[in-house]
Amino acid sequence: MSKHPIDCRMLIGGELVASESQQWLDAIDPSDETLIGRFPAGTAADVQRAVGAAEAAQPGWGALDPVSRGKLLRQVAQALRDRAQETLEVEVRDTGNTITKMKGDVESAAYAIDFFAGLATEIKGETIPASSDNLHFTLREPYGVVGRIVPFNHPIKFAAHALAAPLMAGNTVVVKPPEQSSLSAGILAEICRDILPAGTVNIVTGNGMPAGDAIVRHRSIKRIAFTGSVPTGQRILSTAAETGVKHVTLELGGKNPLIAYPDQDPDKIAEVAVSAMNFAWQGQSCGSTSRLLLHESLHDRVVARILDIVSQMRLGDPLDPSSQMGPINSKLHHGRVMAMIQAGIDGGAHLALGGKRPAGARYEKGFWIEPTVFTGVTANMRIAREEIFGPVMSVFKWRDEQEALTLANSTEYGLTASIWTHDIRAALRAARAIKAGYVWINGASAHHYGTPFGGMKNSGLGREEGLDEILSYTETKTVHVRLT
Ligand code: NAD
Repeated sequence: MSKHPIDCRMLIGGELVASESQQWLDAIDPSDETLIGRFPAGTAADVQRAVGAAEAAQPGWGALDPVSRGKLLRQVAQALRDRAQETLEVEVRDTGNTITKMKGDVESAAYAIDFFAGLATEIKGETIPASSDNLHFTLREPYGVVGRIVPFNHPIKFAAHALAAPLMAGNTVVVKPPEQSSLSAGILAEICRDILPAGTVNIVTGNGMPAGDAIVRHRSIKRIAFTGSVPTGQRILSTAAETGVKHVTLELGGKNPLIAYPDQDPDKIAEVAVSAMNFAWQGQSCGSTSRLLLHESLHDRVVARILDIVSQMRLGDPLDPSSQMGPINSKLHHGRVMAMIQAGIDGGAHLALGGKRPAGARYEKGFWIEPTVFTGVTANMRIAREEIFGPVMSVFKWRDEQEALTLANSTEYGLTASIWTHDIRAALRAARAIKAGYVWINGASAHHYGTPFGGMKNSGLGREEGLDEILSYTETKTVHVRLT
């Protein structure tokens, strides 16, 4: 891919546009800090235009039957597949995620759209035998305009996913991509402009403040779905409440446990733990099992094998298929992850591996951090409680099951959990006891569309990736027909 800057546009009312302010933000390659493009710095006025266009388009879009909406959405999915290579290269440069891992994201983006298109006839109500002299039934109706705000770690996958369920339910949407990695949204904007009626999908790039905030505040947006950090999620809840009575769902962070019982093979657990920590995404994945809870009988052997595997990981150019890990997505986030590593050291955890910028001229520029492993971590430490969202694994040791389950539940998060044992009773005990929305027994990481994904505790509100999600973009209307 050439390093000539990409000139990205927003999509408002069926047109690819700059911001009314004529202000732009730079897109930076996090692997070497070169300028790779620019995108509009969207403002509240841009959001106002986008919501206006979405409101104008909604009655026509909502009047289309769901099967016809699904046909159009499948065309969007196919167009994404047709531009997969271009999207992939842009996305790798813009995020720093390696090309090998990123390949799956473009396909996932298209798959998410196809999945929701396939639910066309599931957007249905019920008949209720509430009285004998009436026919009582419910209808599922769209909210109108939906606002969706997405984070930086899977930009195209989340942006494409963001429009599918609301559109299928008959809403029109305003999507806000992440300011750190917005270029792939420009490709999505072109695709939507070419296939969908004007105003159906609007994409406003820019910073959380003002663009995201203006979406949350807009009085015509009654349904908001946000994916991102807990503090931003809390702020969105409170801002939304200031301007209306709004339906808000939140997909937030995690501090997810992987529990290994004594009946497990240490080598296998080491492999699984490294993979599920998502070092290959620089740890920037909400479902990463960043807390490894090892039974004392396995601890030393698993740790030794993990250090062996992780120390051999190849950091390098994200576009090189042999690279196993890239840089952190942005300078700001690099600083946050480094600060949390320092907090781990200061808090008394043992830094067993990594923790600094890799050596060598290649890594002097860019936002690089070595894959990092802390051992001797205890529940009261900051690195045990706060999400780092970086390539940092914290290892804990436990002696009895109750101690493991207490540890697993010792944070304010409750997104995912991974339980490893051959003892089905122990596995099911743990699955019930752990407060998390998505639990794997002898598995990790995989999302299966059709099964609801989302967090308990401070990890979120609502469920996505299944029927719950599409229905959450509808309001129920009850109708009574008098028969006598
Ligand atoms: P973030 O909260 O900083 O930003 C997310 C989005 O919100 C961005 O588009 C940003 O511009 C926007 N935003 C910021 N302030 C806003 C405001 N006041 N009003 C409206 N919008 C605003 O999160 P991030 O750093 O981009 O992403 C990382 C976080 O996302 C991690 O906590 C991670 O666990 C979480 N995440 C969760 C899931 C999930 O499915 N549960 C998936 C991916 C990422």
